[in-house]
Formats: sequence, C-alpha cells, structure tokens
Amino acid sequence: MPSAIQLLSDSLISKIAAGEVVERPSSVVKELVENALDAGATEISVEVEKGGRSLIFVGDNGGGMSAEDLGLAVQRHATSKIHDEKDLFAIRSLGFRGEALAAIAAISFLRIESRKEGEEVGNFIELEGGQTTREGKASLPAGTRIQVRQLFYNTPARLKFLKSPETEALHIKNVLEAYALSYPETAFVFRRDGREELTLKRGESLEERIRSLLGEEIAGSLFPFQGTVSSLEISGYCSSPELNSSTTRSLFFFVNGRYVKDRTLQHAVLSSYENLLMKGRFPWAVLYLQIPPGQVDVNVHPTKAEVRFANGSVVHDGVREVIRKKLSERPWQTSPLTPLLSKERGAEGGERSDPAVTLPLIPSHQGRGTQFHFTQTAYGSLQVIGQVHGTYLVCESADNLVLIDQHAAHERIGFEKLKKQYEGQGGSPKGDSPKGGSPKGIESQRLLIPENIDLAPSETALLKKYSDELHTFGLDVDFFGGNTFVIRAIPALLNGADYPALIQDLVAEIATFEKLTPLQEKFHEVLERIACHRQVRAGDRLSSLEIQALLRDLEGIPFSSNCPHGRPVGIEISWKELEKGFRRRL
Ligand code: ADP
Ligand code: MG
Repeated sequence: MPSAIQLLSDSLISKIAAGEVVERPSSVVKELVENALDAGATEISVEVEKGGRSLIFVGDNGGGMSAEDLGLAVQRHATSKIHDEKDLFAIRSLGFRGEALAAIAAISFLRIESRKEGEEVGNFIELEGGQTTREGKASLPAGTRIQVRQLFYNTPARLKFLKSPETEALHIKNVLEAYALSYPETAFVFRRDGREELTLKRGESLEERIRSLLGEEIAGSLFPFQGTVSSLEISGYCSSPELNSSTTRSLFFFVNGRYVKDRTLQHAVLSSYENLLMKGRFPWAVLYLQIPPGQVDVNVHPTKAEVRFANGSVVHDGVREVIRKKLSERPWQTSPLTPLLSKERGAEGGERSDPAVTLPLIPSHQGRGTQFHFTQTAYGSLQVIGQVHGTYLVCESADNLVLIDQHAAHERIGFEKLKKQYEGQGGSPKGDSPKGGSPKGIESQRLLIPENIDLAPSETALLKKYSDELHTFGLDVDFFGGNTFVIRAIPALLNGADYPALIQDLVAEIATFEKLTPLQEKFHEVLERIACHRQVRAGDRLSSLEIQALLRDLEGIPFSSNCPHGRPVGIEISWKELEKGFRRRL
C-alpha cells in the first residue's frame, strides 16, 4: 500500500517512547524507586490512589536535585549516570538511559520537588503532558518527592488495558518487595488509598528483611548459599524442596542489585533441584549475582527487566554449582526447623503473618506453596505404627506424626542405589565412557528365561541405536528381527519387575530426547525410569521387619525426602499442628 512518509511530531514521539517504558502504574513506581535508590536514599515512601491511576507519590531522602538539575531531569536523554559510550558497558547504577522522568512526564500531570543536600531551600517543577507549566521554590527536607497524577490521561488506549486498582496495586507492591530484598538496609513504606500495606524498617540485615517480607514460615525453610566462581559472586537463600510453589513468583533474582527475570538463572536454579522437585513446581530462592559490569548487558530490554550475559553458560553453571552444593548438604535435615534467625520477632515489622493456621491436610497446589515440612533425618528411629491403605506407613517421632509413601520411598532408595552403581563405574554425566570393553556400571542380572518384547517400528529404530549404551545401565536387550527384541539381562535391583514394561518406558523416555543424545548425558532421567520399576508398589502389604528395613535404607541416602520425580516421600504433621487442627490450641 503506498503511503507518504512523515516525520512524527515531538509530542507523539515522546508518547511512543513513554509507551515502552511505562506499561502500567507499577512501571512508574519501578522507575521512581530506582531513581531514589540511585540517589542513595535510605528511606523511600510510596503512596498510591486507585491502583496508581489517580496518584502515585514517591518520596526519598536521597541526594536531591538543584533547580537546574530539575529542569534537565525531565528532558529526554538527560542523565547524570553515564557520560560516554564506554560507561554504557560499565553500568553500576539502576538507571542510565535518562528517559524515565521524561516518559512519565509525557503521559501525566507531574510535580517534582527536590532539595539538594547542603542547599537551604528546595525547588519544584510541574508539567502537563511533558510541558512545563510552573517552576519555583519549595520547602522540604533534603531529598526528592514526586507526584504523578492521572497517569495515561492523554493515552486512552493505555488506560483501557489497566486492570482493577487491586491488581495494579499488587503489581506495585511486588516491585517494592523485589527492591526491598535487594536493598535490605533501606526503609520502605507503601500506602494504598491511605492504608499502610508495607512497612520495612531501615537498617535491616538481609535475613531480617527476608523474614519481614516472606514471613516466618518461608524464611524458616530457606538456607543460605554463597560461593565465588571465576569472577562471579553468587549468594542468596534457597528453600528445602518441601517448600515450593506452582509459579515463578517464589524466585527472586538480582544481578548487581537489579531485580531481573532471567531464563538462564531460572534454569540454573531449577536444575539444582533436579530430582528433588516435581515438574512444574518451583523452589523458593533469592539469588544475588555480582558480576563485573562488562560481562552483562543491562541495555537489552525497554523496562530493564531482563539482562544478557556475555557468557551465559559460565553464569548458569556457577549458580547451579553453588546451589547444588548447598542442597547436597541437606541443610533442612541437619538443622530441622531451625529458624533463619534465632531471635524471636514480634508481630511488628512483619507485614505477612504466618499463614498456616488451619491444618493443611491436603497439599495446596496453589498459593504460596508451603505444604508439609518434612525434615525427618532419623528415619531409623521412627516408631512404626503400621501401614494404611496398603500404601502409607504410619510412624511417630517425639514431635511429629509421620506418614511415608512406601512406593516413593522405595523408588528413591532404588534410584540412589542405581546412581551409586552407575557412578561407581566412572560414568560421569558428561565424561566420556569407556566405549566397548566390558561395561560394568549398574549391577546386572541375567534372566534364566529371556523375555521378548515387540515394539512399534519407530521405537524399534530407536532402541537399536541405543541398545549398546543400555549395557552401562545393566540392561541387555538384543535385536531379534522384525520389531522384536529379546531381554536377556536387567538391573539386579529390579528383580521381579515387569521387564517389557520397563523397556517400553525407557524407549518412551528416550523418544523425548530432542536428538540422539548419549544416554550418559541423560542418565538421571534414565535412572528415574528404571527406579520406577522397582517392585513394592503401592498396594503391597509390608511386614514390620520390611518396614524397618525400608526406613533404615532411607536413612542413609541423600535427598531422602523426595522420590526421584520430586514427590515427597513423607509427610510430617507436628503434634502442635494436630492440636491446632482439633482446636486444642490457637
Ligand atoms: P536515569 O535514571 O536513567 O538517569 P531518569 O529520567 O530516571 O533517568 O532521571 C534523570 C536524572 O534525574 C537522573 O540521572 C538523576 O540525575 C535525576 N534524578 C531523578 N530522580 C532523582 C531522585 N529521586 N533523586 C535525585 N536525582 C534524581
Ligand atoms: Mg531512572
């Protein structure tokens, strides 16, 4: 279609630019809070009315601006934070583009008051749709106060996309919570329609801040990790696997103090929990990454919500290594229910109170995710009461009623044994295996009477390709002809299982690999599948001797609190919780 090209007017240009930066009221709050933090504020207060639609106020006690600065600050591409091109690759501040205030000004009624530290009087500037309407002196303490009224008043299309005031306010609160985790020493107050919704004191330690923000229950299941990998400093808190959530809301990532959403980091955290969590569940984690500014590009996203790492795999593997190491110590078992802080904290300060008031008999798959704490180390010392439903072992300890899913337990034990045998051969996940030669690996047992299995043609092709590699997994499966295979040997641990079903399952697993991946790279998945076929399924009666043997086995293995797919092995209900459930205590 032919069209005449025209230059856009300045006012239209600034509205378009504003649209990229300011998606919704919380974007404004984010930009203003970043400015306050960059200005060195130790106290930040935020107020909104009607979800930020009629008013957003942000006040800080930072360095402030002179009269001259004020006039410049609202212009596009005016910043005090970078000066030339090389600064762009060494950014230490949260802001750097010099466009936020101009963008906000273009689509609202804006008033900024500011007093520079050391100056006797402050100044103000007012703008409507980006045009300055008034300027003058103002009296205020050192710092800056910004009022944004009627956001989007001149961009009706944006207004239509706004959600309810409640939803918009929630987004704003999330922004504040994220920055509060990054700047624990800074005081934050959030008022919504006159009501105080968040009060975080100045000078909190990181632990105190986490506790005030996430609440006792979550904080109590978080464990600190810390490590340096090449030039990266990695630290933070990660949860026990029992504390998990159905959304990524439980993950907080900070890169050089900036709150970001990042796939590399998310994947690194999740893969640290491999075999500990069910698919689709997320642990709680607060991750701080300090990285030389030259190794991360923060200028890749309009609202700076994403970053790009020069070397993503170093970051990924570093984070994974540090968290994985922490998890391998099973901190939740050595310090069961040890709160993050030993000192008792009253109700003051913490805005979220402990949510567990009623007994959570059914794990919630929604919400903030905590279900059952299962911190039992001493499986061996549990008193066995019996078995119910042919599936669950009922036990008690001094403090808890403990239910154990015998199938999950059995699978977890089987998986760990197989893994030990497999790794015993030196078959590291990425190392190269001794090709040819006699594969040792998983202890194998020859079948007296080999069993046949028929597969679909596509599965036949796949299994033919992998049958050699399966030797290291204790499996001997020969191609017979047509679509038939002969199963000659199986992992000794699986004695008595349904072998054709096992092979069928393995082939299905292999078919999910994107390409012809060596099984070594996927040995976790393969072992999971194999472990699944161990006998003693739910529905089998166990003698009390067998139960005790099972508990003893559990005692010696890492990550014993979840089956390889991440389902919990046990559920623990404290006597206290029971009493609450029966209303014997409040
Ligand atoms: P940027 O943060 O990218 O520099 P902004 O448009 O957000 O761009 O702000 C422009 C400039 O205004 C900043 O560089 C800073 O010098 C000044 N400024 C903005 N907000 C504040 C504040 N709260 N306190 C002190 N100075 C501020
Ligand atoms: Mg800024």
